[in-house]
Amino acid sequence: MTKTTDSPTSVAIIGAGIAGLTYANRLLAKGISCQVIEKSRGRGGRVNTRRISELKLDLGAQYFTARTPTFQNQVACWLEEGVIEPWTFEPHVLCPESRLPIPSPDNEIRYIGTQGLNGIAHSLANGLPIKFSCRVAEVLHNPVKGFTLVDEFQQVIGHFTHLVTAIPAEQTKALLPTSITYRDQIPNHLHSPCWAVAICSEKLDHSNIEGVFGDEKVRWISRQTRRQDNHHQDKDYWLVHFAPDWSNQYQNASKSWVAQQAMNWLREKLSLKQQQSLHCHFWRYANLALDSLSTQNNDATEATEGIKAPSQFAKPLIDFQHQCASIGDWTQGGRVEGAFESAIKLLDSPFIN
Ligand SMILES: Cc1cc2nc3c(=O)[nH]c(=O)nc-3n(C[C@H](O)[C@H](O)[C@H](O)COP(=O)(O)OP(=O)(O)OC[C@H]3O[C@@H](n4cnc5c(N)ncnc54)[C@H](O)[C@@H]3O)c2cc1C
Repeated sequence: MTKTTDSPTSVAIIGAGIAGLTYANRLLAKGISCQVIEKSRGRGGRVNTRRISELKLDLGAQYFTARTPTFQNQVACWLEEGVIEPWTFEPHVLCPESRLPIPSPDNEIRYIGTQGLNGIAHSLANGLPIKFSCRVAEVLHNPVKGFTLVDEFQQVIGHFTHLVTAIPAEQTKALLPTSITYRDQIPNHLHSPCWAVAICSEKLDHSNIEGVFGDEKVRWISRQTRRQDNHHQDKDYWLVHFAPDWSNQYQNASKSWVAQQAMNWLREKLSLKQQQSLHCHFWRYANLALDSLSTQNNDATEATEGIKAPSQFAKPLIDFQHQCASIGDWTQGGRVEGAFESAIKLLDSPFIN
């Protein structure tokens, strides 16, 4: 996989989330070779579907919206492939006067994965050269050699003419050499954390509750029973996302304690008695933090429901001199759609022709 700068263009893409995969996918379609480097064992990043026994549970993003024409075209392809479907559900909200959450309908079109949201990452990654389980620990730049990437065991991963980072802002800033011109524009803290807990419960009867916008403790819960492979006559499967402040406050808590908090919350708000925790995950960089938001548009995804959409970088972050660029959801307002759009904006720029 090691390439030298003898070849005209060799592009390293750090991160196999939706931004990195979209970029690599479209670059390859243009006939430009690239190498994706991913620290984990799977593709998709925060679009993460975990297999737990016979179940497929989304631990990160739950659904996405599609507002721009380019993303709508991509969504049409995924619909045709059968990896996603519109999520025809009525959002619910908590109501002090009601024993159960009450409907709060809106006009938003949301999409979920037919077999987990990670299906979109598999679709984008098809045929891409991805080196998994490889964390880029250091990026060196030399005017002659270009970029040299080094892993956490001090092994050289490869030499590349161009570098594209597709990882959260905080990790981007930590990794880029200080010589990269736009590095100082990257905020130090942009994302807030999120504890995610998957729960199995007794069946919630006579209820069309599938997704609930919660309170200051739990931001969101969704019932994942409806999704393929998760059908069960006697049981329900829930995903609980704790709120950013709560997750931040209890980031060092044990998984078992956090899982117990999730079950207590479900018992109180949905009257669910029989419960069992299946999985617990801490997302350090989950969604854009509220204090980095401007007041441009309303956003109606779980990531930022009810608050304002984040400010965006007007132009892609590119250092033409060093042949380096950074993409990721955070450059385009967060969310799955932002990750996709960040890649498209870079592809539309003169960064690599
Ligand atoms: C709990 C949660 C709920 C969410 N809910 C929603 C939602 O409902 N709707 C919505 O639209 N969005 C939601 N999001 C946000 C959405 O998942 C993200 O905006 C989007 O997936 C980000 O994609 P990305 O490609 O920019 O980054 P990521 O998905 O973070 O991808 C970055 C990749 O880079 C890899 N990486 C990082 N550092 C290195 C390194 N040094 N070397 C190699 N690889 C590295 C990571 O392992 C990861 O795979 C949610 C996210 C979370 C965590």
